[in-house]
Amino acid sequence: MNDERETGWLADLIYLKGRFESGYAMFVDEAGRITRFSNAPNDLATSRKLPNRAIVPGLVNCHSHSFQRVIRGRTEHRTAANRDTFWTWREAMYHAANLLSPEDIYRVARMAFLEMLMSGITTVGEFHYLHHAPDGSRYDDPNLLAMQVIRAANEVGIRIALLRTAYARAGWRKSVHPGQARFITDRLETFLEDTEALLVAIPRYSKPGFVWVGIAPHSIRAMPIDYLTKITDYAHENGLPVHMHVAEQPAEIDECIAEHKVPPIELLKQRNVLDSSFTAIHAIHITEDEIRYLAHAKAHVCACPTSERNLGDGAVPADRLAQAGVNICFGSDSNVQIDLLEDARLLEYHLRMNKLERAVLARGSGEDQLAQFLLSGATEVGAAALKAPGGSLEVGRPADFFTVNLSDVSIAGAGRESLLNNIVFSLERTAVRDVFVNGEPLIQDGQHALQDAVLSDFEAVQRRLWK
Ligand SMILES: [Zn+2]
Repeated sequence: MNDERETGWLADLIYLKGRFESGYAMFVDEAGRITRFSNAPNDLATSRKLPNRAIVPGLVNCHSHSFQRVIRGRTEHRTAANRDTFWTWREAMYHAANLLSPEDIYRVARMAFLEMLMSGITTVGEFHYLHHAPDGSRYDDPNLLAMQVIRAANEVGIRIALLRTAYARAGWRKSVHPGQARFITDRLETFLEDTEALLVAIPRYSKPGFVWVGIAPHSIRAMPIDYLTKITDYAHENGLPVHMHVAEQPAEIDECIAEHKVPPIELLKQRNVLDSSFTAIHAIHITEDEIRYLAHAKAHVCACPTSERNLGDGAVPADRLAQAGVNICFGSDSNVQIDLLEDARLLEYHLRMNKLERAVLARGSGEDQLAQFLLSGATEVGAAALKAPGGSLEVGRPADFFTVNLSDVSIAGAGRESLLNNIVFSLERTAVRDVFVNGEPLIQDGQHALQDAVLSDFEAVQRRLWK
């Protein structure tokens, strides 16, 4: 049955249930939901053709700080410090954060989200911690900056989980760093009131399923433990995802043990923070016991390998996590590079370099098994971690997907049997041609309708920022 209210899309290949199939059209209703897949000749004949293309589920980027896009290429040098580390990079990041007006934050977010969309990302988790004016004073609308980021996402058409971040202090027994004034909400009650106000405001500004809220205690370092547990209780009561930076740098572990006598994930377990709605961002420097706690809680780990290699954080112990059954998703984090498939392949490659082995994360001998695991991390696992509606091409889910050009130089000659491995290990962004969110083609043949305006606005921000 070909219903007039449905649109059918027919590419040479489509990724369904872990493999590429040929001869199937995907039907999408007016609400943007997938209604059925069909190989009936009449359905194939009436579908819109996407020749020489394969359809892939939209990627889910679980961890982004969009404003950090402005420091791309501006921190790759030695500073006056004895040793350049994450902590010297952070000074540059604070400096940039404090120069951005609300309108700049919108323009920069639009640029980052456009690049995401053009790389096949259809949903982003934006870990948003810029709340106040540069001097720390509150805006009349305490969610002004969050709304700029949401406005940017709505305009380019990407789905967004606004992970509203609580940042209460510089660290245990540390005085506030002036660069952190925009981040800090020191009263729990104020954080919860501001979050409630955002929850109320969102339905007025966006279509259902395009914008939702999560709760993000910034890190153990930035949060008194009672404040942290109260906001995660609030998230649990309201069914919101909880995302938190955990164990990115060894210094954080030492500080946590000094304050709390136990390492971070053990502390979170003791305080009932861990459950299936919890996502630990990074989780690099963690113990075997902590891996077991994450697995037992069915919590997620979000690896951000392109950022982690740039910052010198270390490699996510994905082999130990996967062995224990912890689900792993991906994030672009500092946005030094926006390519979630690169994050996926690096998760494996970092382990190969450390262990001098190949196919470290493969289970069993199936030729596609490793690529299936990595692609599911970049799609359905990410959607679960964000409580997002997309994540896989299934009836009832929204039609969030992208097409790849089968003749792109990076994957040409793959054939059905090796296409998945070609995409996961070798695809370049030039191969991404069309990107659909909720059944709407937002990128067509590599172009977005707002592309020129987004780019020129962003370039103007950069010229002013770095003159
Ligand atoms: Zn981060």
